[in-house]
Amino acid sequence: MTGRSQGAVHLMLGAAASRVKSPYGFRLCPECVKVQLQLYGECFWQRDWYLPGLTVCHRHGSLTLLPQRFRIHRHQFWPLQPDQLCNISVSQPEHVLLSLADLGAKLLQVGPALSPTFAQWTEFYRELAADFGFKRGQHIHHDEIHHHISALFSQAILESLNLKAVIRSDTCWLKGIFRKHRKAFSYLEHGIIWHALLPNWYPSDILNCVRAMKIGPHCYKHEVSPDVSNHLSASEPFTDKRQTWSILVERFGVKSARESIRGGGACYAWLYRHDRKWLLDFNNQHKCPKLKSRCKVDWHRRDLKAVKG
Ligand SMILES: [Zn+2]
Repeated sequence: MTGRSQGAVHLMLGAAASRVKSPYGFRLCPECVKVQLQLYGECFWQRDWYLPGLTVCHRHGSLTLLPQRFRIHRHQFWPLQPDQLCNISVSQPEHVLLSLADLGAKLLQVGPALSPTFAQWTEFYRELAADFGFKRGQHIHHDEIHHHISALFSQAILESLNLKAVIRSDTCWLKGIFRKHRKAFSYLEHGIIWHALLPNWYPSDILNCVRAMKIGPHCYKHEVSPDVSNHLSASEPFTDKRQTWSILVERFGVKSARESIRGGGACYAWLYRHDRKWLLDFNNQHKCPKLKSRCKVDWHRRDLKAVKG
């Protein structure tokens, strides 16, 4: 960041032009402050109160915005004073906002590492769309992705985050993120999709997965070589996880198995990370109920025609 941005790091990150605005002014979570006082005997500004676009503490609820503005004296030190806490009550925001804040807080814990390239991000989201049945051939069905996301994130919530998804518009961020990446997306844009499609994943695991994407003519290939994969497949956790996933899929189908409360999401996540080739092959063999039923109807009609003819 310091080397390549030549001092314009916010410009390079896309923060300046982002729909998601950086926080302006002071904010605090009164419950966190109580914990700070108990643990350390003093209080301080906590960095996970300053996630761009969110005014939520992932542990306790809504943050309190203070009237002070720091732009007048940018370099002045403003300590957090316990007396700033009087008469503050915490309200409970929507559950999905807490989940996004939780993702953001976990993202802050990720250690320094090489960023994935735009090509790797492009490939990651293409694979994700394909794996969830949103990509047929080369075509990505953005309306289906939008429908899936909307089940968790209402338009009102997306609007409050300044991330309303207008799928008819060519500049819609939700469309853009599943297309070729040419610019950085906000952590919130990524987070909305991760929370909806990969709910049990840690950001560090997702970043590792994206970094492992190999870009080439036949794009996605898992980092683990076939030899290693065969060797690993013989071990116990692989057999257990494959068995669990098979039972869930037989029972609920690929899509619903992932959302199953019987640990479907976690099992899917584990296999996605460690045994992805098997998972994708297995899912491919067990998906497309829509296609099958469509074929059935067509065959039936053809039969009827034949009978009539
Ligand atoms: Zn808090």
